Amino acid sequence: MGATRNTTKSTAPTEAVKQINYLAAALKAPRITEAAARLADQARDAGWTHEDYLAAVLEREVSARNASGAQLRIRAAGFPGVKTMEDFDFDTQPAIRQQIGALASGGFLAEARNVVLLGPPGTGKTHLATALGVTAARAGHRVLFATATDWVTRLTDAHRAGRLPAELARLRRYGLIIVDEVGYLPFEQDAANLFFQLVSSRYEHASLILTSNLPFSGWGGVFGDQAVAAAMIDRIVHHADVLTLKGASYRLRGRGIDSLPSIRTTTGQTES
Ligand code: ADP
Ligand code: MG
Repeated sequence: MGATRNTTKSTAPTEAVKQINYLAAALKAPRITEAAARLADQARDAGWTHEDYLAAVLEREVSARNASGAQLRIRAAGFPGVKTMEDFDFDTQPAIRQQIGALASGGFLAEARNVVLLGPPGTGKTHLATALGVTAARAGHRVLFATATDWVTRLTDAHRAGRLPAELARLRRYGLIIVDEVGYLPFEQDAANLFFQLVSSRYEHASLILTSNLPFSGWGGVFGDQAVAAAMIDRIVHHADVLTLKGASYRLRGRGIDSLPSIRTTTGQTES
């Protein structure tokens, strides 16, 4: 790259190149040095404007940063496994293909809308919640994933340490929080109240994705109180896409097992 730079047509003064290198280092944007040099001849050949050239150089830096930032955000999110939209076979869930496609564009995050994925075990709720989270992380959003039980543990710890408001404020800086497996375990009343505070604190500020094996009508049993459940569902669903997944478990495909025993809130841990 550098070898061809100052041969025939380059008119870039060496001093300017040196200065670019110095300034790029000062900005901690070392890729600018390389992109500026590489694109300079291309810009001269193609008669780019100064603005076109500057935009192209900065664009290289930004996309490189986004790529490495995305990796960091995906790792920091705590997904149980990295699953993507491309891995998901929509032939098993044709009814939601379009809705998921629209959500994958990420507009729901800008509007602080929520997504609720309902359906029986093994239908792809965790997969799709993760895939939406990965897409969000790639688009520059900070994401955190945990099960409902884990969220309650974290909030309980913060509450006991007298830092619940600070913790909720910290979590609001995440554009997306995923709460997996609402309903696998019922909550104690204190836990239900803490969970309610999480939902309230994000309401119209930042997005939540929730997954549950129970329809909303079963949430009263999870939160131990119909009134708390109703107030929570009200806030979650006010600005939300609710997607219902159907059919047999993807895990059990081809095993000659068509359906699982019906699920009650007291079933306990059926997931790994
Ligand atoms: P749920 O959370 O609804 O119980 P998961 O999302 O954990 O289900 O899905 C169970 C397993 O099956 C996961 O490994 C997931 O990646 C896979 N899976 C489920 N549905 C699909 C699908 N339509 N296409 C590809 N993999 C799927
Ligand atoms: Mg799951």
